[in-house]
Amino acid sequence: MIARVIVDRSSTQLDRPFDYSIPDNMLVEKGDRVVVPFGKSTTNGFVVDIVEKSDIETKDILQVVGEFKCFSEETLELMEYMRKRFFLKYVDILRLFIPSALRKGKVKDLERYFVRLNDKAQVEVKASKQLKVLEYLKEEGEKPLSELTFLFGAYPVNALVEKGAVKRFLKKIDRVPLKSVNGNRKEVNLTQDQQNALKTIFETEKDTILLHGVTGSGKTEVYIEAIKRVLKAGRTAIMLVPEISLTPQTMRIFRGAFGDEVALLHSGLSDGERYDEWKKLLLQECKIVVGARSAIFAPLQNVGIIIVDEEHDSSYNSESNPRYKAIEIARYRAKLNNAKVVLGSATPSIETYKLALDGEYAIAKMPKRITDKGMPSVAIVDMKQEVMRGNPSMFSLRLQHELKETFDRGEQAMLFINRLGFSSFIRCKTCGYVPKCTSCDVTLTFHKNEGKLICHYCGAKYPMTYKCPQCGSDSLKFGKMGTETVIEELHKFFPDVKALKLDSDTKAKDGATDVLRDFADNKAQVLVGTQMIAKGHDFPNVTLVGLVDADLGLYQQDFRSNERTFQLVTQMSGRAGRADKEGRVVLQTYSPTNYVYKYATAYNYDDFYRKEVNIRETTSFPPFVSLIRVLVAHLKRETARTGAGELYFKFRDLKKENPHIKTLAGMEAPMTKLKDLFRFQLVMRIDKENELETLGQIYEIINKMDKKDLTIFVEQDPQSLM
Ligand code: ADP
Ligand code: ZN
Ligand code: ZN
Repeated sequence: MIARVIVDRSSTQLDRPFDYSIPDNMLVEKGDRVVVPFGKSTTNGFVVDIVEKSDIETKDILQVVGEFKCFSEETLELMEYMRKRFFLKYVDILRLFIPSALRKGKVKDLERYFVRLNDKAQVEVKASKQLKVLEYLKEEGEKPLSELTFLFGAYPVNALVEKGAVKRFLKKIDRVPLKSVNGNRKEVNLTQDQQNALKTIFETEKDTILLHGVTGSGKTEVYIEAIKRVLKAGRTAIMLVPEISLTPQTMRIFRGAFGDEVALLHSGLSDGERYDEWKKLLLQECKIVVGARSAIFAPLQNVGIIIVDEEHDSSYNSESNPRYKAIEIARYRAKLNNAKVVLGSATPSIETYKLALDGEYAIAKMPKRITDKGMPSVAIVDMKQEVMRGNPSMFSLRLQHELKETFDRGEQAMLFINRLGFSSFIRCKTCGYVPKCTSCDVTLTFHKNEGKLICHYCGAKYPMTYKCPQCGSDSLKFGKMGTETVIEELHKFFPDVKALKLDSDTKAKDGATDVLRDFADNKAQVLVGTQMIAKGHDFPNVTLVGLVDADLGLYQQDFRSNERTFQLVTQMSGRAGRADKEGRVVLQTYSPTNYVYKYATAYNYDDFYRKEVNIRETTSFPPFVSLIRVLVAHLKRETARTGAGELYFKFRDLKKENPHIKTLAGMEAPMTKLKDLFRFQLVMRIDKENELETLGQIYEIINKMDKKDLTIFVEQDPQSLM
């Protein structure tokens, strides 16, 4: 028999199964990991098929490694799908399904010594310390050896072990992530809206349901009830959340509802934790996985439901190798299992909402908050007026006032700034004017090297100006602000107020968890942060949310900047007044009449959508076309430029033959240098209908090209073109 093996080495040349013969005395099955001879040495590989015979001369498999199969028929089908959809290499896909430490043979089950009383032993013990140990074990049952030696010292314990009065044995320890997060959830009676949502989920014949519910409408309870029903039918569930920092909150609720049937998977776990959680899912000891994007690859069988919370969040798209869109994979996985996908959001992405309105998804709506307090009221503050009134602070008088009131009442506030505030757009401090491309309606980026403003959708260049063309003042300034600056400013007005901050500098795993827990425990009155604090958090004592500079998102050089700003304003407002106290929001802006704010502060998603989708259609942006970016990078600027130029001409030839390529532009990337690599980009708009065919041609050109050591990658509808 012949095994078809994908070798565990990532390279375009090796991107195919290799045939190996299975020795007679060896049992090899699909899904096994094996060691095979390769060139002059050996390598690990994955068996993806077993066939009768091979057309070529084959070498023997040397060894099967590991005790269990790493993937199933379903994995292999998903793999084929991901190859066609995302143009990924076999091995890069398989690696997503297997903890890396397992592949590299680095993790094992964790074992520790334990002790317990030996009931059969007939030994006399007189030493008082030893008697204390025995008494303790009688009460407590088995205990880790390390705990006993800590409590009583090593000598008495060892003496008892030697006498045989106490038994010492090895025991497998579960590495449970977020061990300290205990289940905590109160049972509720579902509201009519929640019951209707469940009805839609289970009664529609559509495989995907958009759960469009305002912040605080109780989406989590719908997820829990839906999962309960799926488990009752003997099936399993995947629950995706957009951010690792949200997993403790979700785990608390899920452990409350499902106990230890829940496993956690995300990239922030230690190797050992990830291995143990993965194994529990593989061996069907856990039926539910909670996790970030990568949990979509959890080794569950018979998946009955996949829930994607805050579905609009960009983190569901992997934007580094391997590039993929988790929601599309979720839908395919659901199809293979005849399962449901639930996409939950208060602010669905334009793409998702369009699909829902087009009838591809079913829609369930929850337009009301659970509490009868309603949505928090939003005050829009015109920062231009503040400047004119002689208030130079980044805090408007209104925000200062609201902060004071909030502190006086013993409540908490969250202050939000946009992480992208460091980008290089310019804005007039007097009138709020921001230069935009006349043909694309996106904000221009300042390129320092060239001293020009550039549109990086069409490549048009505009001269840099220092005088505002709208009002004539010479106060065109770069937009810039950070969490530190906000805290400094806060302390100017409220020197005694304690503030915590959360941004991408906060240490990934525990740092964020600690900050969020401290804030939940009321150890600080203010939490200052970036995008990370906008998502899903439920802090009952927060009654004020301040958007210190709401515009920063708006001026991102991106066709999605309106959408993202709408989402952020809605999500941030959603953090205020979630419990029984009323919430307030202060939104500071230089463009108070912008339609994004008008609709976001009125919680009017539908009108926002209508306006936005219209703009996308007339300017031909996704979801009406596919936007393709090919990025070419190299240590030497000239090499990168030449490589990109060469590709440009090949794509231009392709464009002549393929009418589905609508536009092609080549330019230096806005972020001209990243990690020492100089970057150039080619941006194309292609027709949606046969996007995969055209993408295939683009990949073919790139694969055929003599790349030398250029880094080239292709993105479809990327979240950002920086
Ligand atoms: P969302 O995810 O839609 O923003 P949550 O699921 O976090 O909202 O729910 C908001 C709050 O309402 C939570 O504190 C939750 O415990 C509570 N809640 C949800 N459903 C009910 C219900 N049917 N009855 C009472 N309280 C509920
Ligand atoms: Zn101006
Ligand atoms: Zn343009």
